[in-house]
Amino acid sequence: MFFKWAVHPAVQDAVAAQPVLLQFVEIVLVADLSEYAVHRLFHTVPFLWRFHAVHHSSEAMDWLAASRIHLVDAVVTRALAFVPLYVLGFSTGPVYAYLVFVSFHAIFVHANVRFRFGALEPILGTPKFHHWHHATAPVDKNFAIHLPVIDRMLGTYYMPEHFPPAYGIETNPVPRRYAAQLVWPFRPR
Ligand SMILES: [Zn+2]
Ligand SMILES: [Zn+2]
Repeated sequence: MFFKWAVHPAVQDAVAAQPVLLQFVEIVLVADLSEYAVHRLFHTVPFLWRFHAVHHSSEAMDWLAASRIHLVDAVVTRALAFVPLYVLGFSTGPVYAYLVFVSFHAIFVHANVRFRFGALEPILGTPKFHHWHHATAPVDKNFAIHLPVIDRMLGTYYMPEHFPPAYGIETNPVPRRYAAQLVWPFRPR
């Protein structure tokens, strides 16, 4: 409804005619570029940060931390990440493949594991890369989910040798219980 004006059938035909594997790689890149932009907005706009702070309120990192997300954060981030995929007209096979990939990868980068990935680390988001996004300090690093190269290009990449010593928000204002977290961003300050 909102983005029909941006759709060009000739562009969509050309995009969908590409090999499936190439489309998949392009989807990962395009989706992560919009995820980076939306994610950074959630960190810099105070009203949006209230919603995203729920995700950052985890004080220990494990696979379940991936699911500690405010409904508004999840819906807005996913919806906006899919707008360019729809406008560009990728075919459904690679888009579904991306859905499977993003479901597992989002859980994987939060997992409480110390595996190292060698030459893969600068290319694909790993637990250490995203754990530093959740570090108490420094803040506002590693906004990308899949591709660390986006943070490298935009000056927000942070990847020392060790894992962060502490996770969460320095003075955590987020309530602990689920229902309280849902209403907390809407409450007047
Ligand atoms: Zn964040
Ligand atoms: Zn996270």
